[in-house]
This record gives sequence, structure tokens and C-alpha cells, in this order.
Amino acid sequence: MEHIVYGPVPSRRLGKSLGVNNIPHKVCSYSCAYCQVGKAVSMQAGRSVFYNPSEIEIKVKERLAVLKLSEKPDYIAIVPDGEPTLDLNLGILVKKLKSTGIPVAVITNSSLLDREDVRMDLMSADYVSVKADTIDYDQWRSINRPYKTLELEDILTGIRIFSDSFKGKLVTETMLVKHINDQENSLNSLADFLGQIGPDIAYIATPTRPPAFENIIPADERALTIAFEIFKRHHLNTELLTGYEGNQFSSTGNFSTDLLSITAVHPMREEAVFGLMRKTGASQDDLIQMLYSGSIRRVDFDDHRYYLRSFSKKSNP
Ligand code: SF4
Repeated sequence: MEHIVYGPVPSRRLGKSLGVNNIPHKVCSYSCAYCQVGKAVSMQAGRSVFYNPSEIEIKVKERLAVLKLSEKPDYIAIVPDGEPTLDLNLGILVKKLKSTGIPVAVITNSSLLDREDVRMDLMSADYVSVKADTIDYDQWRSINRPYKTLELEDILTGIRIFSDSFKGKLVTETMLVKHINDQENSLNSLADFLGQIGPDIAYIATPTRPPAFENIIPADERALTIAFEIFKRHHLNTELLTGYEGNQFSSTGNFSTDLLSITAVHPMREEAVFGLMRKTGASQDDLIQMLYSGSIRRVDFDDHRYYLRSFSKKSNP
């Protein structure tokens, strides 16, 4: 039971979170092409008993006991290098961890949400993140590379049922891969589906570390900007996860710092960038310099011009 508990680690989504690994390394129902912890070593879609939840609870409490007050986590996050709902004891574990008084988050790939026992186990969590990369069968097969018994329609139905009754904070996470699920038509279909789910936040991400398969190319800034706009048009509260912990809510008064920080979370329309420029006393030259240094990118889409923090290799606008 080594490496069962780690952190706290900082993240924009969860603040400070104490991580819990309730699954042996890389036991998963998917073998996502973009997986950043390597190819799945053991695939399964049936649930199993892995670790004793009481022993995990003890390890978490031991860790909490040695943390300073300032290190107290905002969440205990069940986020293993595999799929947490494969753990038959997940529901018991969530309840035990909640006895610490700290909210519990579970990050799931959603593949088992068609099972009532899995939905019940997640129901007592305070925060659940469900993976929703696509609703297209062929895209799902090539991106998520599911275990052979899984069916996309069942999973989508499971997500809908869960979202109807879950009372905690529900977020979705969509990982965009170039030329697979970053096309406008599939993003519109996905946004329709997410609109039915009504997540608190719909996160759009792109692989930022070397993926499991070399032919996987992260979606670029243009695709992310378009995806963001499509999600917004479906009234989804949307944020980007591109590897930078931007903070759209705090202003330093420095144009380039604030622009980089805000556009790490969402693209900014040109009018808003000009507004920030006026507020911080910056000039057009400052903006042009950032474009030419490659720190931000400019994207034209549907009669509007957007700016987004650069996260791929440096390039001119
Ligand atoms: S669901 Fe997560 S852990 Fe499993 S293969 Fe996909 S990215 Fe990796």
C-alpha cells in the first residue's frame, strides 16, 4: 500500500488537494491514446476489491495529522493512475474519508456510470468530475480505447442519470485531440449533450505531457478557442485546462501578466483585451510584442478576434 496518499498538491480546480490512490497503478477500463501515465497495464470493466478502505482512511488521517494548519487541503481527491470506480469499495471509502470533515472529490472516466452501484458510490462525494471527450462512437473508440465490453450509449445514459440526481459539484472534462475530436460538428454534438447534463463547469483540456501514443497530437489554440466558443454558445460555464494555472479573478495591474493569466483559463475577445490594455496603461506595442514572442496566439472565428495563451510550441501569430 505504498503511495496511497500524496500531497497536498495545488490545482486550479480543487485548490489544495490531498490525493488518494485507491487503484493499483494503471488499472483502467480505458487505455486512452492521450493517457499521460502510460499505456494501461491491466484493463478491466468489472469492479474488484483492491485495498482495504479502513487502511486508506488510516493513512489519510495520519497524513492530515502531520500537516500544518496552512497546508490543510480543500479536498481529498480520489484520483488514481487508473479508474477509481473500478474499486468495489469506493462508496465505503468516500464515506470514511468524509469523516475527516474535508470534502471528497472523485475524478472518473465515466465508463462505469451505467451501473447503479457505481452511481450510488459516487452520490456521497462532494465533487465529481466525469470524462466526456466525445459522443461519437468512432472517435470514442480511437481516443478512449475502451475495454471490449463497454458501450458508449450506455455510458452517456449513465452520465445523464447520474447528473439528474447528484447534489454535489459536477464538472465535465473534455480532452481535445487534433484531427479526432476537435472538429466543429463533433464539438457541437458534444456541447448539446453536455447542455443536457448541466455541469457546474465544463473543462476543456488538451494533452500537455507526452501521451501514451506518439501519433496523438494535442489540439491547437485555434481548436481550443473554437471549442470554448461552441460550449459557451450552449450556455456551458466553460474553462480551459492547458497546463497553466491562470487566475482570471485576480488582477496584478500588469498587462502581460494579467493577459497571460486570464487567457490560460479562457480566450479573450479583442474588445476585452483592449479594455485590459486601457485599464493597465499598456499600448498596442505591448500586445504586438506578446504576439511576436509567441506567448499568446490570435484566433479569428465567426466575425470575432480572440486571444489565447500559447501552450504549444512557439509560433508567430
Ligand atoms: S481513463 Fe485516465 S487513467 Fe485511464 S487510460 Fe484514460 S487517461 Fe489514462
